[in-house]
Amino acid sequence: MIPISSVRISEEAERLAIEVIRSGMLAQGPMVARLEREFAEFVGVKHAIAVNNGTTALVAAVQALDLRPGDEVITSPFTFVATLNAILEAGAVARFADIREDDFCIDPEALEAAIGPRTKVLMPVHLYGQTADMERIAPTAQRHGLALIEDSAQAHGATIGGRGAGSFGIGTFSLYGTKNITTGEGGLITTNDDQIADRLRVLRNQGMRQRYQYEMAGHNYRLTDLQAALAIPQLASYDELVKRRKENAARLSAGLQGLPGVRVPTELLGRSHVWHQYTVLITDESPRARDEIVRLLNERGIGCGIYYPKVVYDYECYAANANVIPDPAPVAERVAARCLSLPVHQHLTDDDVDQVIESVRAVVTA
Ligand SMILES: *Cc1c(COP(=O)(O)O)cnc(C)c1O
Repeated sequence: MIPISSVRISEEAERLAIEVIRSGMLAQGPMVARLEREFAEFVGVKHAIAVNNGTTALVAAVQALDLRPGDEVITSPFTFVATLNAILEAGAVARFADIREDDFCIDPEALEAAIGPRTKVLMPVHLYGQTADMERIAPTAQRHGLALIEDSAQAHGATIGGRGAGSFGIGTFSLYGTKNITTGEGGLITTNDDQIADRLRVLRNQGMRQRYQYEMAGHNYRLTDLQAALAIPQLASYDELVKRRKENAARLSAGLQGLPGVRVPTELLGRSHVWHQYTVLITDESPRARDEIVRLLNERGIGCGIYYPKVVYDYECYAANANVIPDPAPVAERVAARCLSLPVHQHLTDDDVDQVIESVRAVVTA
């Protein structure tokens, strides 16, 4: 079996984790502070604030903006459900602008067209490890006086025009078990704004700056030192991990290019893709339907995934929710029906990658 994701914790991470365990200080402490410093530098921003997961990171980012009831956040319809749930949890209205088929991210033109009188936040999602077109989206936010939150859960270290994902607005990252950097559960928020950073730190800790001095109704959003200990060595060796993912992606593309029925993903000019997922589109030329291909690949021991099978608001549980506006998204719907993610992670050998290629070729041509 070739799994779609794989986690190996280094000896250095074990050593740091044991250090934390023996220190007797397991909750948020010096290891979290160190991770925050190193992650801020990694993204190229002044502040990183660690939180307990990527969904929390999004919720806190929206909460830090002090929106009013009825204020709208425009995001991508083609994303993990956490993006939508976080907007709702923070009490805002979720709206959607369609995606582009080349990067699977929100279309800057559709985004600008969707801006209305209640819009307060633009929330692009850097899907699969490649950033959205921030060189157009960031100026749009600025021109309209809107806040910008980048859901960077899948895009640690991705860049566009040499700038890091999460450095254009408020960046939110996930450290969940399948993400490029993982502590099982965990998250980080990045910003250059001193005031937002300060608000997030207070919000994270029950609204408390000094002990029992409450400034706002906060929450417990804290990460633990034990988790931070696992992330620090991953960050230090992240370049190697991405290099291997890039090599695997290039090998997959070389092997699948030109196969009728399969459209391989591309790294767009000026962007650095960190290949959280390698996602192909199954086109009309394929003799087999996407879902049948998934079944046959699984039978052959190739782990694969559908991220995501439907647009995010197209579920019964949101149908009667007045804070979810189902703006039409035909491109996202088409992509959702055709997308298929293949293993690309750093622990694959060349032989593994070749086996993935061979299996896809066999299953799609038969
Ligand atoms: C993983 C993910 C999240 C949520 O992160 P968790 O750490 O699982 O809460 C949010 N948005 C996207 C796009 C994700 O992939």
